Amino acid sequence: MSERITPEPVPAELRALAAEAEALATRTAEVATRLQAASDGTLQRLARPIAKATHDLSDYTAEVSRTAEDLARVRVSRDPSLCDVPWGVCPAHGVTLRTSGDRAFCTASGCGGTWDYDRLHTPCAEPATAVVTDEDGVTARMCAAHARDVTERLVHCTVTDLAV
Ligand SMILES: [Zn+2]
Ligand SMILES: [Zn+2]
Repeated sequence: MSERITPEPVPAELRALAAEAEALATRTAEVATRLQAASDGTLQRLARPIAKATHDLSDYTAEVSRTAEDLARVRVSRDPSLCDVPWGVCPAHGVTLRTSGDRAFCTASGCGGTWDYDRLHTPCAEPATAVVTDEDGVTARMCAAHARDVTERLVHCTVTDLAV
């Protein structure tokens, strides 16, 4: 990697931020609990803003963690040895994925493959095994599952296996 003036953030930095916020949220929640337990009504009322701050910290943690995972996937999908297709597959079954909320699962019977992110709408990060050329001469590097799918759907395309 080349040296740059503004280094690109890496997923580990974001994960560290999320971990710090999580620790802070735990301590804040503990203070809220103690305020709530106070016999003094004025102190009890002060628990509310602290509870809100705890909640905001949890939101922050979730947001930053999610971004860390997205960043990791973007970095992986930039690798030229990986599949170019901008959506995901089940590596074993191909275009069989369905999304449910933030998760994806394979619908092929007996697969049971699940992913804890929206793999269907995330660039494919499987290793490229073939170069596919369509009838207009446009080429793309594809993983085995995507290459198999495209040859089933497109009649006029050629698949050249990459020497692995
Ligand atoms: Zn599957
Ligand atoms: Zn692929």
